[in-house]
Amino acid sequence: MSVALDVMDEELTGWGLAQAARCKVARPEAVAGIADAFAEAARAGQTVALRGAGCSYGDAALNANALVLDCSRLNRILAWDVESGQITVEPGVTIARVWRRTLPDGWWPTVVPGTSAVTVGGAAAMNIHGKNNWHAGAFGESVLAFDLLLPSGKTLTCSRVENADLFTAAIGGMGLLGAFTALTLQTRRVHSGNVWEVTSVHNSLDELIAALDEATTWATDLVAWIDTSARGKRLGRGLLKMSRDLAPDEDLHPAMTLTEAYQTRQRPLMARLPKGWLPRIARPMTTPAGVWLSNRGQWTSGQGVRHRGSHLTSYVGANFPLDAIPGWRESYRPGGLLQHQSMIPAEAASAAFREILDRSQRAGLTPSFAVLKKHRASDALLSCLVDGYSLALDYPVRRGQEGKLRELLGALNDIAAEADGRIYFAKDSTLAPAQTQRMYGDALERFHALKRQYDPQGLLTTDLYQRAIAPLFGD
Ligand SMILES: Cc1cc2nc3c(=O)[nH]c(=O)nc-3n(C[C@H](O)[C@H](O)[C@H](O)COP(=O)(O)OP(=O)(O)OC[C@H]3O[C@@H](n4cnc5c(N)ncnc54)[C@H](O)[C@@H]3O)c2cc1C
Repeated sequence: MSVALDVMDEELTGWGLAQAARCKVARPEAVAGIADAFAEAARAGQTVALRGAGCSYGDAALNANALVLDCSRLNRILAWDVESGQITVEPGVTIARVWRRTLPDGWWPTVVPGTSAVTVGGAAAMNIHGKNNWHAGAFGESVLAFDLLLPSGKTLTCSRVENADLFTAAIGGMGLLGAFTALTLQTRRVHSGNVWEVTSVHNSLDELIAALDEATTWATDLVAWIDTSARGKRLGRGLLKMSRDLAPDEDLHPAMTLTEAYQTRQRPLMARLPKGWLPRIARPMTTPAGVWLSNRGQWTSGQGVRHRGSHLTSYVGANFPLDAIPGWRESYRPGGLLQHQSMIPAEAASAAFREILDRSQRAGLTPSFAVLKKHRASDALLSCLVDGYSLALDYPVRRGQEGKLRELLGALNDIAAEADGRIYFAKDSTLAPAQTQRMYGDALERFHALKRQYDPQGLLTTDLYQRAIAPLFGD
């Protein structure tokens, strides 16, 4: 069936607001709309980029002056099996929709990112990770099968046993091989809508990493906040947030805590401010003095946790704290923010992260926010994940400093490469082709061979692909 698509000329941005492009945007509501758009673009010799919720920070879902297919309206839940915890969805279904459907039955998505706004298609295309990555693996490991609509118009069902090469390449394949049109996920059993959460304080990066490693023996989720202003011996000091699932009989009221109403009952004070106030109040926090002050405030309030034991928090509160503060990224306007997330093998991580933090401070570009996580490698073909740790850093883009900031991030990419690490494409805005080659090596050749096979005309692209990968192959 052919479906006429409205195409609008729009300016799209990455989530960090620092990258924008004028694109021709269509929002198909049925799979036939994607197939038609592929055929039409191929006839016209145009390119197509796929887009989910636009939560990638840089240019991963942009296609300047060409077509972008926003898949967020392909948002039906196709099947839910309460016995097995398997759910089949269209690609535009968000993580929020998934947990709302599964949690009341005692299942939680196996891997979730820091915001529930991302779509399942976008999560699979970037092979996203959660705070449980070191033991649960990446998002792709919870994907049992998917249908992939190829640029030829043909749909292939892929799993670990059927079209397995395409399965491991399309997971993390950034929408460059085909469009996911249906995905089946394995969710995980939970016995309560609450988790136990506890925070500890650590005076240096090595102390923080040691505590994180120690907590892996019992915690379900681990994430550390780092004081980016601390220097010298205290460089990389921070707070470690640890949480664990409740055992089967620990919650006396699971029927209540598993409900959507319980999960969404608390709204922090900031979320109750009139629309537009928060960015105005928070904007000074993105200035150099504001970054120093907010680090000091966070660290000082962290001292209080020394005396606070573990407490219960809802899954939504523990996993998506930023979702409760609508519009917080607006405080980074007008310049937006660039994020830099490097994944470094365990043995080199501490030295590389200290160099990254120190180099940023010396450049006068101290990041406004920093998060440390533990990871394990993934079998996805283009995977950034390593057996080690990642450091994600937010950099405000201040007037007149964008060039200097991009130069710094380029240098930080080299530090990551030198340590045998990788930059996460979903957060990237600065990788140069030679750096991508150095980090992803042979996997890039294998990925490109599959791209030639399944997308010989080069229909599918993005600004990120054009910037960081295509020049390596003369595409
Ligand atoms: C506040 C915040 C916190 C975050 N926390 C984390 C985190 O903890 N861990 C983590 O890993 N990431 C995290 N991210 C990044 C985010 O999870 C990824 O960028 C994710 O890919 C975004 O999904 P999306 O639906 O917005 O897709 P988009 O950003 O719109 O697109 C991402 C990629 O998916 C492709 N794509 C979209 N739809 C399809 C489709 N139907 N078929 C094939 N390809 C498709 C696009 O071409 C693009 O390459 C965070 C982002 C934000 C804003």
